[in-house]
Amino acid sequence: MSLFAKRAVASSSRTITSANKAALAASRAARAYSTPVESNGVSFGLSEDQEAYRDLARKFAREEIIPQARHHDQTMEYPTEILKKGWELGLMNTHIPEKYGGPGLGLVECGLISEELAYGCTGIQTAMEANGLAEAPLLVSASDATKAKYLGRMTEEPLMAAYCVTEPGAGSDVANIATKAEKQGDKWVINGTKMWITNGGKANWYFVLAKSDPSAKAAKSMTGFVVDADTPGIHIGKKEINMGQRCSDTRMITFENVVVPEENVLGKPGDGFKTAMGAFDITRPLVAAGAVGLAQRALEEAAKYAVERKTMGKHIIDHQAVAFMLADMQMNVEAARNLVWKSCWTKDQGQRNSFYASMAKARASEAAGFNVDAAVQIFGGLGFNTESPVEKLYRDARIFRLYEGTSEIQRLIISRHIKEMYAQ
Ligand SMILES: Cc1cc2nc3c(=O)[nH]c(=O)nc-3n(C[C@H](O)[C@H](O)[C@H](O)COP(=O)(O)OP(=O)(O)OC[C@H]3O[C@@H](n4cnc5c(N)ncnc54)[C@H](O)[C@@H]3O)c2cc1C
Repeated sequence: MSLFAKRAVASSSRTITSANKAALAASRAARAYSTPVESNGVSFGLSEDQEAYRDLARKFAREEIIPQARHHDQTMEYPTEILKKGWELGLMNTHIPEKYGGPGLGLVECGLISEELAYGCTGIQTAMEANGLAEAPLLVSASDATKAKYLGRMTEEPLMAAYCVTEPGAGSDVANIATKAEKQGDKWVINGTKMWITNGGKANWYFVLAKSDPSAKAAKSMTGFVVDADTPGIHIGKKEINMGQRCSDTRMITFENVVVPEENVLGKPGDGFKTAMGAFDITRPLVAAGAVGLAQRALEEAAKYAVERKTMGKHIIDHQAVAFMLADMQMNVEAARNLVWKSCWTKDQGQRNSFYASMAKARASEAAGFNVDAAVQIFGGLGFNTESPVEKLYRDARIFRLYEGTSEIQRLIISRHIKEMYAQ
């Protein structure tokens, strides 16, 4: 410790009164959730590799996604060709470890890629990201053999996968799912209906969460399975027509006496809830990164328009009301991106990141919501029209506050951590 730091500590310890001791203890408790650094301290710089991944994704978004985004929005056509190209470049399945044939990227690198893809089109990025969501439970709980089989497959050809947890009767309330898994001999039989499943009609396999022991406490009552999509008894519903991200494939999937071998159980029977929720520590920072990409895009489109469009003899950026909207949009992007990076970095350090993942997810989703609304406002009447670049962004942004846990559920998680930190 430097002489300066020692003096600072000595002088601060002299000023501690009993009144602020409790506050100090609370602040120490709060810092238990911060992330101690072994060397070099805080840095916002990217490594050469990180810059290379970001630039690759940026180029892909500019050259392959943006030119096709409007077509896919208008037709709702699944972006198969774009996904294939993204897969060939290594921009999909980015967190599959090298051991199973993937690039084995850290979450920071994955986040940089997600932001850039989302800048291009969040509908296409969601289709790509949903693979990561399906794969995450396997990373959390699957045996080596299951990882090699199902994750390995994703690196051999451009396949899609899906995460089946939500049901018509249970989204936020995961503990209340009704899909059942019954052990019959050495097999499991799954019955139930999943709803709002991204990549539902395109998946090669599904992660499925089912109740295996309804008499057990909620957290121990569920089991996670990996299920091949061509297993008899799987019925795929119609493609849902959503407000935004319209090329993403969202469906109801029904499981009717679907027989699954014992080796397709992830972890142990009863581990399912932990597995399904643990996956979010990997995926929520990436959904948040997607929201940052969208917020950035809205800012850029609005700023470019504001320096061109004139009213009352000035560019609209020179009207303070418009300039301040842009300033707020910029602040939103920076703050949300910092939270995304922190949530990714914390996970890459091998530390628990749920607290930061929820903050990043809620803050970035809301930043995207604010920015698209402001962008439409800055475009005036044109912003309401499908010919403007921001009308699609406005529709696409709305889902971020809903999927992978609503903003209310993120606040529930954050506030539970706060309660734990400050409990006397
Ligand atoms: C386009 C799209 C894609 C999706 N993709 C997938 C997917 O791939 N896989 C998958 O499993 N699911 C997916 N989902 C489902 C999504 O995660 C759920 O819709 C979401 O979690 C909310 O659940 P719900 O719709 O049942 O709403 P509900 O849980 O019924 O919530 C309704 C409202 O009540 C609030 N609320 C509920 N409980 C509480 C509480 N305890 N405290 C405060 N507020 C509360 C919610 O925040 C919300 O505002 C997708 C959904 C959509 C629309």
